[in-house]
Amino acid sequence: YHRIVLDSRPAGRPTADNFRLEEVAVPTLEDGEVLVRNHYLSIDPYMLGRMSTGVSYAPSQPLGEVMIGEAVGEIVQSRNKEFPVGDHVVGQLGWQEMALSDGQALRRVDIGAAPMSAHLGVLGMTGVTAWYGMTQICSPVAGSTVVVSAAAGAVGGVAVQLAKAKGCRVVGIAGGSRKCKYVMESLGADACVDYKKHADSAALGRAVGSHAPDGVDAYFDNVNGWMLDGVLPLMNRFGRIALCGMISRYGDTPMQLSAHSYLLISRLRAEGFIVWDHLDLWPQALQELTDLLQSGSLRSGESIAEGIEAAPAACIGLLSGENLGKQLVKLN
Ligand code: NDP
Repeated sequence: YHRIVLDSRPAGRPTADNFRLEEVAVPTLEDGEVLVRNHYLSIDPYMLGRMSTGVSYAPSQPLGEVMIGEAVGEIVQSRNKEFPVGDHVVGQLGWQEMALSDGQALRRVDIGAAPMSAHLGVLGMTGVTAWYGMTQICSPVAGSTVVVSAAAGAVGGVAVQLAKAKGCRVVGIAGGSRKCKYVMESLGADACVDYKKHADSAALGRAVGSHAPDGVDAYFDNVNGWMLDGVLPLMNRFGRIALCGMISRYGDTPMQLSAHSYLLISRLRAEGFIVWDHLDLWPQALQELTDLLQSGSLRSGESIAEGIEAAPAACIGLLSGENLGKQLVKLN
C-alpha cells in the first residue's frame, strides 16, 4: 500500500518536495491489533505547524515518518475483540492507505448516522472544535453579534451555523467573494467581509464594524495576527473571544508568533476587569483584607508626601516610580 512521509522540513511555505510517496508491504497483525483500510484522510492546518520545529501546542512531525493526521476507515483484519472486521473507525491513522492500530485511540463511528466523510468534519474534530469554542467560550445569546473568521472553512463554517441557530447576528470573514457568497447564502451569515479587499487591520475593522452597528459580543478567531487586531477594538464590554486558531501564522517556518499567539498556545485566560463593575464583591473583599491586616499577614505599604503643595509631584512621581506602596499626601 502507499503512504506519505515527511521527507524534509520546509524552508518557508511547505512544497510538494517536502513529502515522499512510499510503497510498503501490508504488515502482519500481532495480538490486539487491527488493520484499517483508510477511506478519507483529514487535512488540517495544525499539520502545517507540526512540519516546523517552532513553538506550537504539539510536538513536531518526525522526518522520514508517516505524516500525522486523522483518517476514517474500515477494519479489514482484526485480532482485537473490541473492533471486529467491518467496524468503521476514526483515529490518528496517518497519510496512508492502510494503518495498523492497537485500537487504543480509535473511535467507532456510525456510518448510518452520517456518511463516513462527515465523521472527520462536522461530526469530527473540526465540528467539536466549533462547538466547544462557540458554546463554551463565545456563549452566544439571541440578538447579540458574533464574528467568525475563516468562516468558509471546516471549523468556521460550523461556528457560523451554531451562532445562527442561537439567533445571533453573524458576520463572517473569509477570503474572496465566492467564499463570502457561500458564507451568507449556504451557511446563513447576515454579512461576510472579504478580508482580501482590506490592506490592514484598521481597514478590516472598519469593514466588519459597518456590519456590526451595535459592536461585537463574541469573536470566534481562527486566524490570529492582524485579523484579531482588527476585530479587538470592535468588541463590546464583557465580550468573549474564542482563540481557536492562528492560520495566519502557519504560512512560514519557523512560525512567526505574536504576543497574543501565546494566549492560545498556553490556553491562557486573560480577562480585563474594572473594579467598579464589582461593587457587589466589595464587602467580601474588604472583610478578607481587614482580617489579613489585623492578623498581621498583610502589610500596608505607604509613601507619604507632606502638604497639599506636594500633590502634583507625588502624582507625576508615579511615572518615575518614586513611590513604594500606596502614595499618599498628608495634609497639614
Ligand atoms: P479551514 O477549513 O478553515 O481551512 C483554513 C482556511 O484558513 C483556508 O481555507 C483559508 O480561508 C484560511 N486562511 C489561510 N491562510 C490565511 C491567512 N493568512 N489569513 C486568513 N485566513 C487564512 O481549517 P480548519 O477549519 O480545520 O481550522 C480553522 C482554524 O482552527 C485553524 O486556525 C486551526 O488551526 C484551528 N483549529 C483549532 C483547534 C483547537 O483545538 N483550538 C482544533 C482545530 C482547528 P480563506 O480563503 O477564507 O482565507
